[in-house]
Amino acid sequence: MHSDCLFCKIAGNEMGTEFIHETAELVVFKDIKPLAPVHLLIVPKRHIRGINDLVDDDRAIISELILTARDMAKKMGVERSGYRIFFNVEKGGGQEVFHLHLHLIGGWE
Ligand code: 5GP
Ligand code: ZN
Repeated sequence: MHSDCLFCKIAGNEMGTEFIHETAELVVFKDIKPLAPVHLLIVPKRHIRGINDLVDDDRAIISELILTARDMAKKMGVERSGYRIFFNVEKGGGQEVFHLHLHLIGGWE
């Protein structure tokens, strides 16, 4: 837990953020500034700074994030209409919160 990290605080239940889904390893919550009708963030509880900081031992959590995105798309009813999942990487790639998170956006007409 990094005390100055927003997503560590959210995942640690310190911010009162409502979770769409929670397991021992990750939490899912709505993005505060949604880019689409459905915009979820899928976030490991353990602090990982970003994609560049992944190590071989992170294979399991990365798989879990993607399989959770699949499940959340179904839960939100966008699995057939379509959706995008993405990681922003470093400042130039649009990353603003330096705690790994997978975006899921969809729900367009
Ligand atoms: P990034 O740009 O780092 O890939 O994505 C960070 C995302 O976190 C942004 O889409 C932003 O709207 C979202 N965000 C930032 N602060 C908060 C917050 O306090 N609560 C929630 N739910 N989302 C946040
Ligand atoms: Zn963190």
